[in-house]
Amino acid sequence: MGGGWRGHGSIPGRTRRPPLRKRSCYDSIFIQLGDEILQLGVDRMRLCGYFVVVLIGVLVSIPVTAQRSKARKSRAAAPGQAEIERMTARFAPTQLRVDISRLSAGDRQALAKIIEAARILNDIFMKQYWSGDTALYARLQKDSSALGKARLHYFWINKGPWSPLDEFKAFVPGVPARKPEGANFYPVDMTKQQFGSWLASLTPEQQAAAKGFFTVIRWNSGNGSSAQRELTAIPYNQEYKDDLTRAAGLLKEAADLTENASLKKFLSSRADAFLSNDYYDSDIAWMDLDAPLDVTIGPYEVYNDELFNYKAAFEAFINLRDDAETKKFSVLANHLQEIENNLPIDPQYRNPKLGAAAPTVVVDEIFSSGDGDHGVATAAYNLPNDDRVVQQKGSKRVMLRNIQEAKFRTVLLPIARRTLSKHAMVDVNFESFFTHIVAHELMHGLGPHQIKVQGRDTTPREELKELYSGIEEAKADVTGLFALDYMMEHAKEMGLTRVLPSDEAAQRQLYTTYLASMFRSLRFGLTDAHGKGMAIQFNYLLDKDAFTQNPDRTFAVNVEKFKQGVRELDHDLLTIEAEGDYAGAKKLQDELGVVRPVLRSALDNLQGIPTDIEPTSGAAGCCPEIKKKAEVEVQAHPQVVMTVKPGPSLQWRPWPRQPVPERARLRHYEWAAHT
Ligand SMILES: [Zn+2]
Repeated sequence: MGGGWRGHGSIPGRTRRPPLRKRSCYDSIFIQLGDEILQLGVDRMRLCGYFVVVLIGVLVSIPVTAQRSKARKSRAAAPGQAEIERMTARFAPTQLRVDISRLSAGDRQALAKIIEAARILNDIFMKQYWSGDTALYARLQKDSSALGKARLHYFWINKGPWSPLDEFKAFVPGVPARKPEGANFYPVDMTKQQFGSWLASLTPEQQAAAKGFFTVIRWNSGNGSSAQRELTAIPYNQEYKDDLTRAAGLLKEAADLTENASLKKFLSSRADAFLSNDYYDSDIAWMDLDAPLDVTIGPYEVYNDELFNYKAAFEAFINLRDDAETKKFSVLANHLQEIENNLPIDPQYRNPKLGAAAPTVVVDEIFSSGDGDHGVATAAYNLPNDDRVVQQKGSKRVMLRNIQEAKFRTVLLPIARRTLSKHAMVDVNFESFFTHIVAHELMHGLGPHQIKVQGRDTTPREELKELYSGIEEAKADVTGLFALDYMMEHAKEMGLTRVLPSDEAAQRQLYTTYLASMFRSLRFGLTDAHGKGMAIQFNYLLDKDAFTQNPDRTFAVNVEKFKQGVRELDHDLLTIEAEGDYAGAKKLQDELGVVRPVLRSALDNLQGIPTDIEPTSGAAGCCPEIKKKAEVEVQAHPQVVMTVKPGPSLQWRPWPRQPVPERARLRHYEWAAHT
């Protein structure tokens, strides 16, 4: 959920908002520190080997040296089977459970059509990702060797030959060493300067198209001479015409099948948008969507366009709405002004009138595709991105509860088992984890946004520049803890007792779970905003004795000191934002945004724990092993639709050799059985 705020330039006057999904908030580029050390060791050995080869080469003949050295190089460039399997094992296959038995018959039939349409978006996304992606995918599918299967599996997880967890390094030979920055949205040989001078030559209307979400940029070769070639913007409905026409047809069919009027409207207007390239009406319809089947499908996020963040990638999330959880969080959102009025900051910096909070919908994911199903699994998103729609209707936040729960089970619990004392471990639970994530998202809207520095109207983002994202992420985290503490303390007066457990145990669980989740975020390294922001929190709170290390190197929290530390840190972060205090932010980051030895040794102890999940329910029907699992589910819930036929775009994926820990229930005491 990139590191910073999203900024697209295609429509004048766009405001910038924090991105609420993918790398920026929960997930980011992962660098396992332990692996780094391992990698260093390998490099050293390679160097040594190279020296021996050179020595032999000198003794025998120079051409042999060159040859061997070249072979070594190419071997080093493409990881072998074991290495790819190690990379793949970081994504633990985790089955998503969704009970769709309460969907109406019409919705269930519509669901099958929507999933078919979503699969087509996988094809479009691969075309957007890299010009050679589709051909490479076809080639890997034909490779029946063990290495070929390993490559295919990891390719499918990432929907391309580069590993986002490893700074987009290639894991298949014969492809660019790193993902092209502009993906396939721009010509691969186009420079930023060329784009800029072309842009300057255009009318404002043409500029909007060139920078718009829904066009790709290509060379228009003119009379064929490279000196005269010009850039040109091609709309998506032209570039992906065949795929979008098929997907639109399926969405129309689905619209006819569902009885829900708002879903009908969204599906049919989105189908129209696929054909017309005008997404405005369907974005509005998406904001008005009020249906048990919660569908997001279309071109949305711009992270894959690392050149300019202009171009939207196709994706789909097909979800089942969780009404009880959704209601719970709308209750919390009703109290934001009261939280703002009590923020631990000089009262002059508080906002007396907050804008309306974005509505939050809690859902379980049934199926995802395209940009929504590559690399680290998306845990939440905030859409739409078109600020014309945002200004008119606001934006909507969708929290994928079963994805978060799967991450908690597969990644956070094992981390907690290694970092917390047995006594503390019993306080780690999913409710606390999930509630804090929602609070984090809500808190991006609180605190200083429009500020004055020396009489100038400005924003924290403009003043804190490159440090802003890290400070803002830490602020959302810490203010989230503050807000939950405040609501727990005032649960009775605020009428929250039914939705927010607030006894002493609940408070202990909040901080203990948060401590474990800090280690989870820090494993992603300090290269991105969230990692840096988390290191600041970890070191600050450690210095305040919010948690302490036991002789056996595990940690445990001190609730009172934790609360106090949170208030003080929140005060510091909010004040830095309110005053646009770049120097203060720099000092905080330089002093605390670092990995100290105590943290380093805790992180070193986390090797072998998965980084993320590979959701498997979405793959139902695609591969024999997974299908078998799906059938078991179908037997358990006869109404569950898992009868969707395998689409041409989903292919067999080898089931991993490592057994997947299956824990049906998240019991507090279960750690004992697994440590
Ligand atoms: Zn965030």
